[in-house]
Amino acid sequence: MPDTLDTLTARLIAFRDERDWRQFQSLKNLIVSLNLESAELLELTQWLDDEGVEERLVELEFKEKLAEETADILLYLLMICERAGIDLGQAAARKIDINGAKYPVDKAHGNARKYTEL
Ligand SMILES: [Mg+2]
Repeated sequence: MPDTLDTLTARLIAFRDERDWRQFQSLKNLIVSLNLESAELLELTQWLDDEGVEERLVELEFKEKLAEETADILLYLLMICERAGIDLGQAAARKIDINGAKYPVDKAHGNARKYTEL
């Protein structure tokens, strides 16, 4: 059975507390770390065009690296939410609803304009 966000967060807290790392994981430091991991994900696409990224996906090593960096991002995001008292699942579901209202299908279908320009 796959881990839920709650079980992943519980594992992260245990991992952190076993190492006495809570003292280093301020909300600010977690946000910085999330952005550094995002940069590592971005680095995987450096110098490649859209087709180049798609082509690299067939390489096991590239796909594993992509999986690692996306996981790093999720894990920091979970720790940010834990530290800030945010229910990430609820917040994400709410944001999808908000985006749905901002981008009604009849106006947004097939175009990439920002909601303020629809
Ligand atoms: Mg990383």
